[in-house]
Amino acid sequence: MNDILSGQFVLVMAPSGSGKSTLIRDIKEVYPDMSFARTHTTRVPRPGEDPQTGTYDFVSNETFDANIAAGAYLEWATFGGHRYGTPAADVLNVLKSGGTVLKEMDLQGVKQVRALIPPEHLTVVYIDGGSWEALKERILARAPMSAEQLELRKERFLEEEKGKGEADVIVENHDGNVAKAKERFRACIATIRERL
Ligand code: 5GP
Repeated sequence: MNDILSGQFVLVMAPSGSGKSTLIRDIKEVYPDMSFARTHTTRVPRPGEDPQTGTYDFVSNETFDANIAAGAYLEWATFGGHRYGTPAADVLNVLKSGGTVLKEMDLQGVKQVRALIPPEHLTVVYIDGGSWEALKERILARAPMSAEQLELRKERFLEEEKGKGEADVIVENHDGNVAKAKERFRACIATIRERL
């Protein structure tokens, strides 16, 4: 694989509520030549999530099964009862042609990609939006939530936080200072692109 790859693959792990979408949107603006690989997922779009503008393709279980059988996914995983997969062709085409491709991914997917892509072509970034206590405050300030739902969010946060130990780079987005976090993430991408 190493002989044919010349690009850089950036995997972004981040608990929900860490500010991931804002930071990735910023990178899209600053680096318009970068690629942002799509996700196939069997979950349905959330309210307010526009399938036209995001990087998710919402597919049926049958389509997902067929793609697994065809070997079309670089990796796939089940998270929160739904499946998520990375169509291999998109990512590999960019990596073979010397570009940079960024992809959101959970920890299970990151481990699979680590086994496939040599480390000189791969950087795993974790966006650290702070502690559960801080996140809980932000969630509750936005809208009321039942104790049961809040417990589910906490479980999910603790699961996603395990990714921190697997990251090469940690981008802090703690103190509500998004401008600073954008700067950190931009610097991280700039360093990665120096490897091209
Ligand atoms: P959500 O349903 O909140 O959009 O995503 C759930 C989790 O799946 C998040 O951690 C997200 O980063 C991750 N994810 C998104 N796309 C992929 C993918 O293609 N593969 C894997 N393994 N995880 C993904």
